[in-house]
Amino acid sequence: MTPRPLIAGNWKMNGLLRHLTELEAISGACAGMGEGKDLLICPPATLLSASAGLLFGKAAIGGQDCHAETSGAYTGDVAAEMLADLGATYVIVGHSERRAGHGESDADVRAKAQAAWRAGLTAIICLGESAEDHEAGEKLRVLGAQLAASVPDGMSAKNTVIAYEPIWAIGSGRTPTTEDIANVHDFLRQNLAERFGKEVADGVRLLYGGSVKPDNAAEILAIVNVDGALIGGASLKAADFVAICRACP
Ligand code: PEP
Repeated sequence: MTPRPLIAGNWKMNGLLRHLTELEAISGACAGMGEGKDLLICPPATLLSASAGLLFGKAAIGGQDCHAETSGAYTGDVAAEMLADLGATYVIVGHSERRAGHGESDADVRAKAQAAWRAGLTAIICLGESAEDHEAGEKLRVLGAQLAASVPDGMSAKNTVIAYEPIWAIGSGRTPTTEDIANVHDFLRQNLAERFGKEVADGVRLLYGGSVKPDNAAEILAIVNVDGALIGGASLKAADFVAICRACP
């Protein structure tokens, strides 16, 4: 069975209360669009509550990160349970900006994915090779290692989404060729099948992320084994996000 596509927007550290007008516009434009696909916005934690109200019934909301523990003395952190409490149903874990900027290891990412599951959230586990690994032909080795160490045992098609995000493509305007994306997604699917069995692997959504825009979305989303997209910059403007959603078959 082909997985139901997911178009997910990651607002990163962008968005003040006044930018909720973009979500209002997304909400208006997305009415009825969610029939064959799932839509998701991951706003900053400060806007989760307001976003949940605005997008209710039109798009899901998710966190951009979570702590591995349920509660405690972790100043500034947000538990998966807190995200769920506000209506989130997804959380991104292991984004390359967290791995690089906050020193998160594959083991940290795995623990965060388990925390997401504990709270009933779907974990969007991000993987991606650096420009150096890409140029050195090390991409599949690096991705295989990240996949093995970041995805916990017990993964299912419901509790996990995998997002392939080449670091060099994020925010750069550069994307891999469609052939390269297809090869990586085939590799990820095959790799998951070897560990979790074909039925689970075939049901897990594999997203592509990195400079997805309205003008390249249709081509990327048509690639076999690409079950949606994770979108940074282009999710901040309702018109762009909605255009990408419309490009999803
Ligand atoms: C991202 O950071 O997850 C991302 C895909 O960013 P962008 O779309 O801006 O490249």
